[in-house]
Amino acid sequence: MNPSNTSTHADAGVPEEPESRPSNFVRDIILDDLKTNKFQGRVQTRFPPEPNGYLHIGHAKAICLDFGLADEFGGHTNLRFDDTNPSKEETEYVDSIMEDVMWLGFHWDGLFYASDYFEQLYAWAVQLIKAGKAYVDDLSADEIRKYRGTLTEPGKDSPFRNRPVEENLNLFERMRAGEFPDGSRTLRAKIDMASPNLNLRDPVMYRVLHTEHHRTGKNWCIYPMYDYAHGQSDSLERVTHSMCTLEFEDHRPLYNWFIQQLGIFPSQQIEFDRLNLTYTLLSKRKLLQLVQEKRVSGWDDPRMPTISGIRRRGYTPEAIRNFCGAIGVSKTNGSIELAMLEHFVREDLNKRAPRVMAVLRPLKVVIDNYPENQVEEMDAVNNPEDADAGTRKVPFSRVIYIEQDDFREDPPKQYFRLSPGREVRLRYGYFVTCTSLVKNDNDEVVEVHCTYDPATRGGNSPPDGRKVKATIHWVSAAHAVDAEVRLYENLFACEDPNRTSEGEDFTANLNPLSLEVLSECKVEPSLAVATAGSRYQFERLGYFCADRDSPAGKVVFNRTVALKDTWAKIEKKGK
Ligand code: ATP
Ligand code: MG
Repeated sequence: MNPSNTSTHADAGVPEEPESRPSNFVRDIILDDLKTNKFQGRVQTRFPPEPNGYLHIGHAKAICLDFGLADEFGGHTNLRFDDTNPSKEETEYVDSIMEDVMWLGFHWDGLFYASDYFEQLYAWAVQLIKAGKAYVDDLSADEIRKYRGTLTEPGKDSPFRNRPVEENLNLFERMRAGEFPDGSRTLRAKIDMASPNLNLRDPVMYRVLHTEHHRTGKNWCIYPMYDYAHGQSDSLERVTHSMCTLEFEDHRPLYNWFIQQLGIFPSQQIEFDRLNLTYTLLSKRKLLQLVQEKRVSGWDDPRMPTISGIRRRGYTPEAIRNFCGAIGVSKTNGSIELAMLEHFVREDLNKRAPRVMAVLRPLKVVIDNYPENQVEEMDAVNNPEDADAGTRKVPFSRVIYIEQDDFREDPPKQYFRLSPGREVRLRYGYFVTCTSLVKNDNDEVVEVHCTYDPATRGGNSPPDGRKVKATIHWVSAAHAVDAEVRLYENLFACEDPNRTSEGEDFTANLNPLSLEVLSECKVEPSLAVATAGSRYQFERLGYFCADRDSPAGKVVFNRTVALKDTWAKIEKKGK
């Protein structure tokens, strides 16, 4: 190996073995550009959210792409807030976006705001007016729409299109000075009212909007349109590869037009497919509606597909990054199964989440031949997938709780858990055999009695080699910690919540059973100190994450994702 070769490659930003990573078309474009030295070997990207809501998992895909590719090629990524629409933007959103990007594990190089560029954008607009490439229009928004034409018909010139440059300069200055009311005038680019691309039919560059901006306050009463601000912001930051979603493909000619007219740095825009996930919605506007209408508890409701929601639910940044890597990017919009995201969450939590025992729907079990007042500390493995995770002690005593589901008075075929006369293993405990049961007036089993075999301590097989077919979890009643567990199902009842019947909006598709609260849960004592955000596997049940809420002093857990339930499958097949 020749060390000098290696450093030459590293300088150029070309990875030594590009083939060893799964590629995608965006990465291939960057690799090509590095080979041809298109941007002098530079890779500069940006993630450009509009601070008008919380980020969702779709944004995570864009973030992984923007930051991931720059990281891979020794480049840089800016976080830029595209804050050109003051009526919908708030500092709360800016703060949450920064928190979410960091939580996903990425670090931006520059932190910018499109509003930092308002003065420069204004100067460029004046430059375009002077060059006869922009004009002040007095048509209303409605009239502009009517004049625009359609996909099959060319548009019509505005009667104000040929205003003299001096008049345009004067009016534009007075727009800025606040002389005109909202909606009365716009500045438009003078391109081509007959262009087959509607975005090139004299798009609006500035509108009058007497609204305070979350950063520039009352300094401005005209604001640049996103389409005028975006490309130039990229250019100012000397962004080399500007990735965005496919709906902006038709806007690219407009961005390039501005860049050409102004003679500024030519950032290259590359469009990729938007992430859609089944059983949920990835649109800030619609998610905001759910928050405003109180259909969910807030942006970070664990059912929400927002980064803050899935964080509170217990998803890990690693799982999200792995998922985004696996779905890749393409040139056609499609839909990804929510189950795939859940698969990556399970896979990651399986490696890192400590195992504990928790009983969600408790049934009292008395072990009649176990000495009263005796307590044994049983050794339990924290994580069989991680030898370094060690063991802990779990107290065992005469009265325990098991899941109601783990007992059947009349067991169906293939049901091997506890039932009268049946012996099962209590995980890390003992073999126990059911001897009798107690029912209430409603004929419901409220207590089960068992005997235990002292020769099976730790849940080990007895000397006679006797086997049992089921192992169940339990919690010692005297030591149990009270908990509330929130079980989540899909937020929407159908795969594509955007599909609605006439007269209904997407909220008609909300799943009324998306949240079930179990408030009588019993969990092992080690969980008394669980801090918000700690993740666990509740043995045999799924992955759970401690929540910041603590009603009535209870520990609260959110179900992140269930384990695969083989019994449910068997039961279904039997029907
Ligand atoms: P929304 O419709 O949810 O408000 P948006 O595209 O308006 O989304 P922005 O804040 O403008 O949201 O998005 C910032 C970046 O994230 C953009 O580059 C955008 O293309 C990308 N992005 C937004 N939604 C998705 C998605 N579902 N999948 C992939 N990338 C996305
Ligand atoms: Mg947007």
